[in-house]
Amino acid sequence: MCHPIEVYNEKLVTSLQLLASNIENSEERPGQTGMALAVDSSIENNEHLVVEAGTGTGKTLAYLFPYALKEKRVVVATYTKALQDQMLKSDLPLLKKHIESDQNRTFNFLLLKGWSNYLCNERVDAAEKSKSNGRQESFFADNDFDEIDKIIEWSKTTITGDRNDITFSVKNSTWDSMSVTRKECFGKEKCPFYDSCFAVKSREKSSQADVIVANHALYALDLAIGGHLVGPHEHVVIDEAHEMETSFTRAWSITLSSGRFEWLAAQSKRILKEENLDAVTSITELGELLTKNMTQHEGHWVRTSNAAEILKTLELAESRVERLNHLVRSTSNEERTKLRVANAADSLLEDIRAVLLFLNSGPTLSQVSWIELNDRGKPELNISPLDISVNLKEHLWEQKQAVLTSATIQTNLIDRLGVPIDDGNPLRIESPFNYAKQGLIYCPDMPDPSKDTAKWQELVLSETEKLISLAGGRTLCLFTSRTELQRVTKEMRTRFDLPIFMQGDRSAKELLREFAADETSCLFGTRTFFQGVDIPGPALSLVIVNRIPFPGPTEFLVKAWSEQSSLITHSFGWRNIELPIGVLRVVQAVGRLIRKKDDSGVVAVLDPRMTRSDYGHKFLDALPGMPVTKNIDDVEVFFAQTPE
Ligand code: SF4
Repeated sequence: MCHPIEVYNEKLVTSLQLLASNIENSEERPGQTGMALAVDSSIENNEHLVVEAGTGTGKTLAYLFPYALKEKRVVVATYTKALQDQMLKSDLPLLKKHIESDQNRTFNFLLLKGWSNYLCNERVDAAEKSKSNGRQESFFADNDFDEIDKIIEWSKTTITGDRNDITFSVKNSTWDSMSVTRKECFGKEKCPFYDSCFAVKSREKSSQADVIVANHALYALDLAIGGHLVGPHEHVVIDEAHEMETSFTRAWSITLSSGRFEWLAAQSKRILKEENLDAVTSITELGELLTKNMTQHEGHWVRTSNAAEILKTLELAESRVERLNHLVRSTSNEERTKLRVANAADSLLEDIRAVLLFLNSGPTLSQVSWIELNDRGKPELNISPLDISVNLKEHLWEQKQAVLTSATIQTNLIDRLGVPIDDGNPLRIESPFNYAKQGLIYCPDMPDPSKDTAKWQELVLSETEKLISLAGGRTLCLFTSRTELQRVTKEMRTRFDLPIFMQGDRSAKELLREFAADETSCLFGTRTFFQGVDIPGPALSLVIVNRIPFPGPTEFLVKAWSEQSSLITHSFGWRNIELPIGVLRVVQAVGRLIRKKDDSGVVAVLDPRMTRSDYGHKFLDALPGMPVTKNIDDVEVFFAQTPE
């Protein structure tokens, strides 16, 4: 459904056209003007807007431009770093140049990062003191001293304090000891380095910026703590909005693992007197006990009914951390040293109490909890809210004017987030590409893998081989399982004498660079490559989707939404929640193919559910209008007719 464009702003259209004419190799983008006018109207009317902008719309400039022209400060929150990079390197400098010459005023933009991305001057001072004391019993005892010394030197010249500006290698553990999270920061009252603080300065600078770029997680955190991170603003654009529910839920979740007990024990040991070291031992024991309890539940839901040992351990933890905290605060150590440990104890206590409250409250529909392995391979307990629309209403929809946009918007997104818009539908901006001519969808007859796995696997190999031969390489092959990725890659490497890169061989960034540079190569990967791959031109002319990427059993959040939906609507939650996610992921995979007006190519889906299930039409309805065939001859003709 299309929304009427309520206000036609001639100045905006003329100015946007002028900007577009200055872009080298720019293509005509009628959708961009339409989207810019819709954003302009939403600002004018102080309304929220949700826009699904097909690939090639040029949506970044379409939303940045109206805010810039109206001199409205805006925060743009993205999900991926790739989109931030593209905005900072291309769209924003272009806009700056245009506004500054056309409007004869300054225009500034800034990337705002989380607190711990900036060097902490208090940590630098502590590290220098520790060095002059011979580094005995210090916070830094377990760290790489060479790296710490280099960071101390760097601190004397850096202007930003941003970790990204470091030119030497630094381990995460070293950086963690030289930076702090927002919660760990001593704040204005207690930090003697507040005036020269890099994180504080970045916030001050952001108050001068016309556009502040941040990520979803940082923005969600900002809303949760009442706007202390991003600073005052009235307008926000959430780009890559299809990820908003997951990323905001994650940011508003509580996590608990034994690592925080270990850290607390190690640091307290350095400052407590000999006679109080039993308090440290009791914390170390608790960390070990918690890991043991959590390991038994790893990969499972945590509920009041099945977590008696975890509950018992955390009740013990509450009193032991309280005692340790009291002992730390009573020592005669330097105030800052005590504060660092005591702050960590306070924050741990807060989360222990939240988990205890959850476990003691009995069944609830508002939160869900599970245990999974964290980045460090340790079991971690998560408690997540199940419905973030209430929070969004209070902190976002009623406080700011928001534009949500993405190339693909789930059918249920507006409803799930509770976005208050009039007709409850997104504005749809058609892609400028001629999909009917530029692409072809190939869905061969395949057996059901759950009924005849061997036959399906055999046909996957023969179909993949035929397709790669017809395309002459140039293939992005996407899998939902690592085992299947390895099986097909191994076999194709024996059948072809062309480069087949596999996820895991090198970093994703390197693999993409090599794949784009060699027009005979193929790239085989899993979920990482379903979105964000942007390779225009002939190097990517065939996308093979091995299986539809429906949410797997370890996607706890999605499974919880699905279960909740079944309970509330008394219908099949899978259709309300997981099916739209599967559709979204296939649409994203297909979106890798056509990136420019003269791109062309084929998408092959080797999953029979695409055409033979009773919900298959949902996929075909959501995909751009490419012809669909199950005949491989059509693929041959398509490639023969399109230039390489
Ligand atoms: S204000 Fe916080 S982040 Fe800044 S130097 Fe002080 S403790 Fe570190």
